[in-house]
Amino acid sequence: MCETRLRDNWPCETNWPRLPSTTTSNRGYAAIAEARSVLEHELETIRTGGTWKGERIITSKQGPHINVDGSRGDILNFCANNYLGLSSHPQVVEAGIEALQKYGAGLSSVRFICGTQDIHKDLEQKLAQFHEREDCILYASCFDANAGLFEVLLGPDDAVLSDELNHASIIDGIRLCRAKRFRYKHMDLNDLETQLKESQSSRLRLVVTDGVFSMDGDMAPLKGICDLAEQYGAMVFIDECHATGFMGPRGRGTDELLGVMDRVHIVNSTLGKALGGAAGGYTVGPKPLIDLLRQRSRPYLFSNSLPPPVVGCATRAVELLLASNEIAQSVGDKTMRFRNKMTEAGFTISGSDHPICPVMLGDARLASLMADDMLKLGVYVIGFSYPVVPKGKARIRVQISAAHTDQDIDHAVDAFIQTGRKHGVVS
Ligand code: PLP
Repeated sequence: MCETRLRDNWPCETNWPRLPSTTTSNRGYAAIAEARSVLEHELETIRTGGTWKGERIITSKQGPHINVDGSRGDILNFCANNYLGLSSHPQVVEAGIEALQKYGAGLSSVRFICGTQDIHKDLEQKLAQFHEREDCILYASCFDANAGLFEVLLGPDDAVLSDELNHASIIDGIRLCRAKRFRYKHMDLNDLETQLKESQSSRLRLVVTDGVFSMDGDMAPLKGICDLAEQYGAMVFIDECHATGFMGPRGRGTDELLGVMDRVHIVNSTLGKALGGAAGGYTVGPKPLIDLLRQRSRPYLFSNSLPPPVVGCATRAVELLLASNEIAQSVGDKTMRFRNKMTEAGFTISGSDHPICPVMLGDARLASLMADDMLKLGVYVIGFSYPVVPKGKARIRVQISAAHTDQDIDHAVDAFIQTGRKHGVVS
């Protein structure tokens, strides 16, 4: 393309130094100008498609009641993964401060160089104990745990069988590994069996599923999955990000709730949701697997170790859960209150008995407009649309926290009824 014409199209030309058209730098500017125009076009497509994801700015700490930039006063927050209300729990915050003071802000290192402190080992041991698995390895996030697992465990002679609606980080992690890939229909045991038969000749086989699927709040049929895996000689992996801490009688997760803790071999989960909400992820499972991950897992080997305050907060959250089952149980009744009242009002709530309560609306714009109107009534919720959920299945995903009071929940239901009537969703 002729340089003069490119220069004419430069979007911010007036801010840029003028250079002779023949220099290498000028060709660099031309390249970025071309990229800008491609990116602007892409952004416009998202805007006109009604799937633009704006970011509201919170000016307080995370919790059921927050302050939001541009909105007056106290806003009720119904879209955090703060299932147990531990994000701002005084003991969790205090433990973070103590760790910051004793161990500093961070390690300036990956784990195997000089980034392992006693608190990292202690948290790994407590998480292994919590999940009743042999060992644990920490990552900077569960996204990293999912990115780092599959290529270490599975090679070209192996096979991975993955639910079609698994989380993006699982999909990306699987893309990085060289195993043969089999995708089964969402929670469809018949289809899983077909794929298990087809992959029979592989050396190792791993069935991979979210324990709870975050967009719908539905739970994997783990008993059926374990039965099939055992019948066909496969291992089972679950991602427990939306289950750890509050599913099952002691909050161990969907595997505990469904009675298959000893039949699920590998669990990945996050410290960034129910377990204090700061950041971090981990894998628990057989010791040789964890040992090998420490040697080969790329996000572990090539990324900084978890900062001490984050480790301190998560450790206290796990200690609270190990000490008492009451916390794990604290969100169930509140979830049912919201689900029952919303269903009575005429809304369709997807999923079952999980604090993720997707209010199904269908249209992306409707979901976004209703979420904006809810904020005007003091309730912070977010509309989810394509590509986060399938086209035509837009929704407002409400998440209940143990920190919500009954009045908070009733206020949210009233606001939904008011906005739902305005937009003709309920009568
Ligand atoms: N897996 C699932 C099912 C998730 O919902 C998420 C977070 O949204 C992740 C993995 C990634 O977790 P993290 O935020 O710790 O990277």
